Amino acid sequence: MSSDNSKPPIRWLNLSVLGIPPLVAVTLVPWYGFTEGYDRFEWISFIVLMVFCEMSITAGYHRLWSHKAYKAHPIMKFIFALGGACALQNDCITWASDHRRHHLHVDDNDQDPYSANRGFWYSHFEWMIREFESTKDDTSNVRDLLKEPILAWQRKHYLILLLLMNLGLPLLLGWLNGDIWGSLLLAGFLRLVLSQHFTYLINSAAHIWGSRSYDPTQTARDNWFISLFTFGEGYHNYHHTFAWDYRNGIKWYHWDPTKWLIRLCSWLGLTSELRRCSVYRQERTRLEVQYKNALQKCETLIDSMLWRKKLEQEYQQLIATLNHWAELKQQWCQAKSAQLSSELHDKIQELDPESIRHRYRLLKIELQGKRRSWQALLNTFTALPYQAA
Ligand SMILES: [Zn+2]
Ligand SMILES: [Zn+2]
Repeated sequence: MSSDNSKPPIRWLNLSVLGIPPLVAVTLVPWYGFTEGYDRFEWISFIVLMVFCEMSITAGYHRLWSHKAYKAHPIMKFIFALGGACALQNDCITWASDHRRHHLHVDDNDQDPYSANRGFWYSHFEWMIREFESTKDDTSNVRDLLKEPILAWQRKHYLILLLLMNLGLPLLLGWLNGDIWGSLLLAGFLRLVLSQHFTYLINSAAHIWGSRSYDPTQTARDNWFISLFTFGEGYHNYHHTFAWDYRNGIKWYHWDPTKWLIRLCSWLGLTSELRRCSVYRQERTRLEVQYKNALQKCETLIDSMLWRKKLEQEYQQLIATLNHWAELKQQWCQAKSAQLSSELHDKIQELDPESIRHRYRLLKIELQGKRRSWQALLNTFTALPYQAA
């Protein structure tokens, strides 16, 4: 019996809804572009709706509801609920339930709805179009979301909402602009297909290509290139390790427009209680992975004992400096808050913010030096396999 015959039955409704738009996008969209052309209004509508859909999934469905990484004003929730229907990626309760199972059972072919261990095609698309056991509806892990009035409303009226957002809105824009077909093809079909497949890349490509700096035991990867298309969701190994962090790209230069939107909205009072992992915890986790990898490499070297000793020494020194730096940082924060608080005014002398600040800065310089020599040692290790026994 061929493996195809043993596959579960196809969900014809899902296949039609998810399969027809790509056909339109690769045939009618370019044909109309060559014969009639698209104007500036249509391209702007396409971009705005694209951002609207993608951000509603990344900031709303994903970071707000699936992971509770921050709190949002009801206006934001309403916008995300509409954008999620526009993205046509199911209602939020179902989406979040699948996603929480994905995190809890990542790479487990029986329980992870889009396990990357089943291959690119399965995790990208096939999991949605066949009746796999792991994709069965089960809302037991989203009881908190079932109590959200906006999500209950979206779930109840999902069909009408998706029609309004995917057909009504492009048709309205087309009518206003005097070109219904152009708007329907560009802001409707092409926007829908691209926004969907960009999201699907997180389940497929971001579990195949990239680095695993925080948790090498699972398939999720950090990939800056995928982040360009997915509004910051490409830093997926970090995300799977610290899923409750409202950021996926933690450095200021990491392309993560979703975190910028959440942060910007916090200044406007539209989001609050943004959760983030401390620099200390991120670095400890990353260093531990580097240390374990380097230890493994040590075993293959001629002077393994010697290298192992050097590695352990450097690692312990770096960790000690990092711990000390984190302690001082905490003390400095306490000293600053004590300075602001009249109740703790007497403690100022005890804590002496200026002296802590000075020690903290010196230690920061020392830590940077230790980080550089650690990196240099790791680089040496990368070049060392040539000396393997
Ligand atoms: Zn994942
Ligand atoms: Zn997630």
